[in-house]
Amino acid sequence: MEPTNVGNPDYYHKVVDCQWACPAHTNVPGYIRLIAQERYDDAYMLNWESNVFPGILGRTCDRPCEPACRRGRVEDKPVAICRLKRVAADLRGDITPRFPEIPTKKNGKRIACVGAGPASLTVARDLMPLGYEVTIFEKNDRPGGLMWTNIPQFRLPPEVLWEEIDYILDMGVDIRYNAPVESMKWLLEQGFDAVFVGSGAPRGKELRLPGRYDTDRIYIGIDWLESVAFGHTNAIEENVLVIGVGNTAMDCCRTSKRIGGTNVKVMARKSKPYFKASPWELEDAEEELVDIVENHSPTEFVVEDGVLRGMNFDIVDWHENDQGRLVATKLDEAFFPAEAVILAIGQETAFPWIEDDAGIEFNKWR
Ligand code: SF4
Repeated sequence: MEPTNVGNPDYYHKVVDCQWACPAHTNVPGYIRLIAQERYDDAYMLNWESNVFPGILGRTCDRPCEPACRRGRVEDKPVAICRLKRVAADLRGDITPRFPEIPTKKNGKRIACVGAGPASLTVARDLMPLGYEVTIFEKNDRPGGLMWTNIPQFRLPPEVLWEEIDYILDMGVDIRYNAPVESMKWLLEQGFDAVFVGSGAPRGKELRLPGRYDTDRIYIGIDWLESVAFGHTNAIEENVLVIGVGNTAMDCCRTSKRIGGTNVKVMARKSKPYFKASPWELEDAEEELVDIVENHSPTEFVVEDGVLRGMNFDIVDWHENDQGRLVATKLDEAFFPAEAVILAIGQETAFPWIEDDAGIEFNKWR
C-alpha cells in the first residue's frame, strides 16, 4: 500500500474541508492546534509556508475556508479561522531567524516582476531562497499594491502591512520605485529570464449614465480609496451614495463615514442574498450606521448647473425567468439626494503597456 502523500493538496479535499477551501491550502487544523498550545511562532510559520501574509490575511481575507468549516453544520457559526490567523500573527515573537537562508551564490536566473503587490511579492518570497535574482518594477513610491492603496488603514494598520512586506524585501529583492513599466517590448529587451505580470485589476468599472461627466463629484471607488491612502483626499460631502455592494463598496462607505459623510447609503440593484460583499463586511458597515438600500437600479445622475444633486433609480423586483435567469420588473422610481457618488461596481484588468505585437496572446479579459 502506498503511503499517503500529504504533500498533495488534493489529499485535503477528502479530509479537511477548510484546508481545501482555502486557495492557498493553509494547514488550518495544524495552526489552530498550535495556537491552542500557545505556540504562536510555530502557528505563524505554519501559515507562512503557504499564505505569505498571515497578519494581513488575518484581518482582510475573504475567508472561503469558514463556510466550509464542519462546525458550521452543527453550530450556528464556523470556527473563526481567519481571526485565529490574526491571533498567531499578533502574538508571535521574532520569527526572522526561522526564515529560509538566501544563497549568496545566485543560480544565474533573473526574474522581472511588474507591480509590487501581493502577487509579485509572493513570487519574490518563493524564488529568492532558491537563488533567483528578482527585480520588481513598481509605479508608486512604496510596495504593497492594492493592499496599501485600497484597504483602509482602519482595517489593515500600516505597521502590519510594512512588517510582512519587509520580511520579503529584506531577502535582497531589487525593487525599483517610481518605475512604471510602459512597454512590454522594452521589458523583454532587458535580458530577464522570465517576466511575471502582477499588476492585478487596477481599473474601476464605469457607470455611463446620463449626467456622468457633468460634475466632478462622481468618483471611481478604487481610485478614491487610493487618493485617501495617499492623503490627497481627506474629506467628503455629507450625503454620499455608494453604487455597488461588494467589498470595495463596503470600504468606500466606511471610509466616507470617517471623513465627513454623515448620511451614507449603499445602493444595491439586487436584494441581500445576491450581494457580493462578505456577510461580515456588511455587518461592520451596518454597525457603523451605513444604510443599505436593496433593489434600486440607477438610471441617471441628477446634475444642475454642474452641481450634483443626487441620483434617480428604478425600484425593481427580481424573479427567475423560464431559463432560470434573474430578471427585473420595474415597480416605481425614486430620487436620492447626494453631493457625492462613489462607483464601486467592479474592477477589470488594464494592460495598455503591452503592445499588440509583443508576442502575447490575449483573451477577452485584456
Ligand atoms: S483565512 Fe484565508 S488564508 Fe486563512 S485559511 Fe482561511 S481562506 Fe486561507
